Amino acid sequence: MKTLLAGGIVVTMDRDRRVLCADILVEDDRIVSVLPHEKDALRPDEDTEVVDVSGMTVIPGLVQAHMHVTQALFRGLCDDLALMEWLRERTWPLEAAHDAASNAASARLAAMELIRSGTTSLIDMGTTLHEDAIFDVMAETGLRGLFGKCMMDMGDDLPALMREDAEACLRETERLMNRWHMAEHGRLRYAVAPRFVPSCSERLLFAARDLARQNGLRLHTHASENLGEIALVEQLCHERNVRYLERIGYAGEDVLLAHCIWLSDEEKRILAETGTHVVHCPSSNTKLASGIAPVAELKVMGANVALGLDGAHNHMDGFAEIRMASILQKALTHDPKAMPAMQALELATLGGAAAMGQEDDLGCLEAGRKADLVVLDMDMPHTLPAFGRDPVQRVVYQATRENVVHTMVDGRFLYKDRKFLTLDPKKTLAEAERACSEVMKRAQLPPLSAFFSAGC
Ligand SMILES: [Zn+2]
Repeated sequence: MKTLLAGGIVVTMDRDRRVLCADILVEDDRIVSVLPHEKDALRPDEDTEVVDVSGMTVIPGLVQAHMHVTQALFRGLCDDLALMEWLRERTWPLEAAHDAASNAASARLAAMELIRSGTTSLIDMGTTLHEDAIFDVMAETGLRGLFGKCMMDMGDDLPALMREDAEACLRETERLMNRWHMAEHGRLRYAVAPRFVPSCSERLLFAARDLARQNGLRLHTHASENLGEIALVEQLCHERNVRYLERIGYAGEDVLLAHCIWLSDEEKRILAETGTHVVHCPSSNTKLASGIAPVAELKVMGANVALGLDGAHNHMDGFAEIRMASILQKALTHDPKAMPAMQALELATLGGAAAMGQEDDLGCLEAGRKADLVVLDMDMPHTLPAFGRDPVQRVVYQATRENVVHTMVDGRFLYKDRKFLTLDPKKTLAEAERACSEVMKRAQLPPLSAFFSAGC
């Protein structure tokens, strides 16, 4: 199967960061060529589907390197709270109330939103139970990613269903790994995902680390998101969070730490020197009033930084996240040149690909790479005028998910001409609404708005 995307403005993200007016030829799951577009020079053979993208902008598919698709159903139930309150009062009780069907409905709703927002890959923290449902949905909808059951065996505030015995948790992790790692021709992979230091015993953290290392998997956890969390870790471990994690082997090129907001200078050095991947989640961090991660500084120090949408924080628009990542660093450093447009786009593409351990395949549009890409129609009121403008700055500072026309993963359109090809949008939305009301009943969480109490 061959597809020719003809005449687009291609933001390649290659070594020279070239932006070309080019044709992209895709065969099966890979890009065969990215060649300068010459009008009337195209002679595609009969088997090639030609898609005219002239005037449109083509970028590598966005990577969300830290997410919780299980929380998509909880959007709007968890607003205006700080992290620990947000977890204890809403998010954990709701996650505990999921069954396999509601978890699938949540993952499918998230997949629908991600696909139409130009995300092609994600790294997901999963949930304690029903992780197979997430893998099933990702297999069916065609997204790429690293997924792992969330591991927790400690914490007085955890709902009983979510606090597992360490042995049972490890057995289930191993079962899931054996079933799903490298499924769908390697599109789906397993990542070992202890939630964060305060909800994992050392026994569990050590065993999770060993399991990941023995099987060549990514280790994915949260770290240093919030001052309360830092204090809790210091109380439990008598060390700062990232320093403790490094001491117990949670540092290195196979480790992903989400957030990394509150870091000492020593911890910043640890992240940069060990090649530990930092996942910056700007919308989540600002909405939960956690703080702003010093990612421009970390980049200067040599750390790899990726972007992530995180949990139930209202939207899953990767473009909003890229813009936010850039402008927050300007505010943090009082330097308008901090995190310029190209660097912000790097976080969402090359940075994410490196975090996934697939930097040779993803994050860049050139011959030999996987065909994961997004086509943007920039002829919209919020992205015009175009005359004299830099295409990358337009994508970073102006584009939103409304510009997305096509999304392709592994050479296959998941979204084409703004239509979903791997899911039924009406059914997905109806199922999400129904599943959410059932989860709220099981969690014994009443509607939070008087609007509903009034019987509307
Ligand atoms: Zn998270």
